[in-house]
Amino acid sequence: MINMTSSKRYIELDSEYGAHNYHPIPVVITKAKGVWVHDPEGKKYLDCLSAYSAVNQGHLHPKIVEALENQLKRVALTSRAFHNDRMGLFLKHLLEICGEGFDMALPMNTGAEAVETALKMVRKWGYEEKGVKKDKAEIIVCENNFHGRTTTIVGFSTDPDAYTGFGPYTPGFKVIPYDNIEALEEAITPNTVAFMVEPIQGEAGVIVPAEGYLKKVREICSKNNVLMILDEIQTGFCRTGKMFCHQHEGIVPDVMTLGKALGGGLLPVSAVVSRKEIMKVFTPGVHGSTFGGFPLACAVGDAALDVLVNENLDERATTLGNLFLQKLKEIKHSRIKEVRGKGLLTAIELNEKARPFTQQLISKGILAKETHDYAIRFAPPLVIEKEDILWAANIIKEILES
Ligand SMILES: *Cc1c(COP(=O)(O)O)cnc(C)c1O
Repeated sequence: MINMTSSKRYIELDSEYGAHNYHPIPVVITKAKGVWVHDPEGKKYLDCLSAYSAVNQGHLHPKIVEALENQLKRVALTSRAFHNDRMGLFLKHLLEICGEGFDMALPMNTGAEAVETALKMVRKWGYEEKGVKKDKAEIIVCENNFHGRTTTIVGFSTDPDAYTGFGPYTPGFKVIPYDNIEALEEAITPNTVAFMVEPIQGEAGVIVPAEGYLKKVREICSKNNVLMILDEIQTGFCRTGKMFCHQHEGIVPDVMTLGKALGGGLLPVSAVVSRKEIMKVFTPGVHGSTFGGFPLACAVGDAALDVLVNENLDERATTLGNLFLQKLKEIKHSRIKEVRGKGLLTAIELNEKARPFTQQLISKGILAKETHDYAIRFAPPLVIEKEDILWAANIIKEILES
């Protein structure tokens, strides 16, 4: 082994041997616990990104680590060629948490795979149940969406970085403005099988739609026999103050894609949840994944769900998120364009480029990352303590006012 002691060396290795498909902040993380991460030089940072909300339960939560260790003593991977003794129990647990309106789940691994699964499902539903003619199915999505990085998904992205150079794109997608009910009504045709939308657009910079938007989307979808797919991969699992973001509006989508925090910060675990009458389009051999639903993931997912419930992380996100937003809104400075968010999914949008501000935050021990140049997202693990939230708010204020 090469003697590697400094952050600089690790960064050089990444740059030399890893494809340059990211432009990471130059911080190397070698150790983490709860809301804190450490670099090789021993500097400590408050994690305000939480791996894009995959670490809602905090880094290396002891209950989730214990579940993983216990499962490792039995069996990790079986493939779906056989049954295992974890998957059914895990999916039952997940559906109980999803609540009324969901009675069947399909486990995958990454978020993008869950989205792809949902897209395949609604197309097949369109042909078999709605009576759409072969290869005519249309799916409506929103501008500035983020649903993952596969060839089909980037084909309906409106971010040139995401789609340029990856054509030809999968046909059958229509893009409309976000938070715009009239545009949705106009875009629907007899061939429309689904509308897929994020309850809050996280990657676009924490764009919160007008109150009542999802409710109206629900009405329009129901009226037109169009399936409503909510991508709750980032907003789900207590991040916005409810178990799922759509619960703020008291509606139930037909299909939900889940991922990120479902893996408790340890493993990629994702799923599509829906109703039997829709999911029945998946028959043997029609769809699958070697790892999807593997026992280790199911054990981790079970524990990840338990932590969310047992530690009331929805209530924590509400209380601490409100406090944090209030503190951020108190900061008065011409550099700030807007402070917004829901629960502990928050962002500050500046009137200037955000990278220098991000760098100052990092030097003061707060790990955050800008999205789309001008906004910085703050989404710490939901297990954060009040004093740490106040500490962070104070540092943000100091830097913005300096
Ligand atoms: C992160 C994310 C995805 C993609 O998940 P991966 O695990 O990175 O494939 C999809 N949708 C939303 C809303 C996300 O935030």
